Amino acid sequence: MKTTSSFLTSTVQVMPPSGIRQFFNAAEADDEVISLGVGEPDFVTPQCAIDACKRALEHGRTMYTPNEGLMELREGIADYLHAGFQLQYEPSREVLVTVGGSEAIDLALRALISPGDEIIIPVPGYVAYAPLVQLNGGTVVELELSAEHGFKLTADALQQAITPRTKAIVVNFPSNPTGAVMTHEDWLPIARLAVAHNLVVISDEMYAELTYNGRHTSVASLPGMRERTVIIGGFSKAFAMTGWRVGYLCGDAGLVSAMVKIHQYTALCAPIMGQIAAIECLRNGLGDRDVMRQAYDERRQMFVQGLSDIGLSCRDSQGAFYAFPSITGTGLDSQQFAERLLREAKVAVVPGHVFGAGGEGFIRCSYAASSARLSEALERMERWLQTHV
Ligand code: PLP
Repeated sequence: MKTTSSFLTSTVQVMPPSGIRQFFNAAEADDEVISLGVGEPDFVTPQCAIDACKRALEHGRTMYTPNEGLMELREGIADYLHAGFQLQYEPSREVLVTVGGSEAIDLALRALISPGDEIIIPVPGYVAYAPLVQLNGGTVVELELSAEHGFKLTADALQQAITPRTKAIVVNFPSNPTGAVMTHEDWLPIARLAVAHNLVVISDEMYAELTYNGRHTSVASLPGMRERTVIIGGFSKAFAMTGWRVGYLCGDAGLVSAMVKIHQYTALCAPIMGQIAAIECLRNGLGDRDVMRQAYDERRQMFVQGLSDIGLSCRDSQGAFYAFPSITGTGLDSQQFAERLLREAKVAVVPGHVFGAGGEGFIRCSYAASSARLSEALERMERWLQTHV
């Protein structure tokens, strides 16, 4: 008898489960584990947003919103991107509120991929891109970023990955998992190539607010890029709102209207509670955002130095909240390292290989944890390295 799995598409059948979840679940199951595994703020959403949401619920605001999202929120997002990153989007036609940044990534890929299109994905990179490209019928072309160049995207590497079938590139700076950021100068040659080869850039800027040496530069702000860039953003990281499921995408009206068409049939709208909380964050939560950012910065400095002190060389993390130290000196591969560290020292990290080629030889540690827990994790790792490895 055939099993039910034979009903499934071959794409889904061969899709591996997320390599991050494995470590998340193990950490959740054991109170003694210090988890540096999940990319999630350890802060609670700003109180003003929680209060605004409670009030709205008490007043019966429990319905659908317009497909594109509440107008107040779209206006708030456009103003926020303009003030923070010199970007200009028309709220009524060029901003779409989505179910987290995750839905925005999927919508962009769904609207852009035709069969046979190649999508360039720089790796090590965020784990969702490749499966989503495959689900949408595209071909993944991995572009390996090198530690030598600080895991930045270079024009040479991009040029080599481009073929006549290339439709788009997905970029993510500040980067999950490497913490790398790209400056205006870094983007210039990339933008020139994108224009020359008529590429679309899907720019995942979920960590735009979390840079520690100067402001984030969006690739959309470079010459010729606005009309070919879809920006993905959200509230999960900078405003500690992972559970509310609210993000957005912005781009030229011609692109965004296509994504709205898909979204109206699939998600209808992002949750109204999340949208109300997000509006309040943009109005009165910027101070909370800055306090959290400052805390990540302090932890980052302590933790990156601490990793180097215990023998895991780690380049400076310039953005997001991840350190990506090398483990090559230990003689273990990243899966062995992460599994044994979890079992023997009760510290959860993510093996670098799950982020694609170029990630092997590294582990990802999130420093979105309290300083006390980060210090304890460093002590456990040091003891473990001395006695077990
Ligand atoms: N993009 C990147 C680079 C991420 O790291 C994450 C979450 O870890 C997301 C998108 C998804 O964000 P959201 O919670 O808004 O769906």
